Amino acid sequence: MGLIECTSSASLWRGYDYYKARKVKNLKKINDTQYTADVDGTMSEPYKVLIDVSHPRTSKCNCPHADGKRIICKHMIAVYFTAFPKEAQRIYDEYITYQEEEERREEELSDKICQYVWQMKKSEVQQALLELLFDGPEWQFEKFIREHDLDDEYY
Ligand SMILES: [Zn+2]
Repeated sequence: MGLIECTSSASLWRGYDYYKARKVKNLKKINDTQYTADVDGTMSEPYKVLIDVSHPRTSKCNCPHADGKRIICKHMIAVYFTAFPKEAQRIYDEYITYQEEEERREEELSDKICQYVWQMKKSEVQQALLELLFDGPEWQFEKFIREHDLDDEYY
């Protein structure tokens, strides 16, 4: 498991933003698996980061979130992406592809629902509407009453 698999998705994308914003300075390769760098953060002093790509949990950063813990923080991710820009591109492309697929799935589902509703019998539509009104959220119920002038007490 690499650093990417060990981090949260929030830290992954914040780390990606840090990488894109070039907040990683003085990147040094220590050996085949370890890199050190300084990362500009919210404090005036940059954070000192060491990442180990084959043993992610031994990576270190002196930010409050990760200091003394076995957490993979956004600064480590930023260092990782700076050391491996192709990996950053791959993760980003994967994410975009996933987003596009998700959008396409939603569109297909909307089309399916529309087609289905248009071929329903009137009595089926009425039954479904009543279920939505009585089992659905209150605002929906109230909106229906208001829009169809069904409650004299409202005025
Ligand atoms: Zn950190």
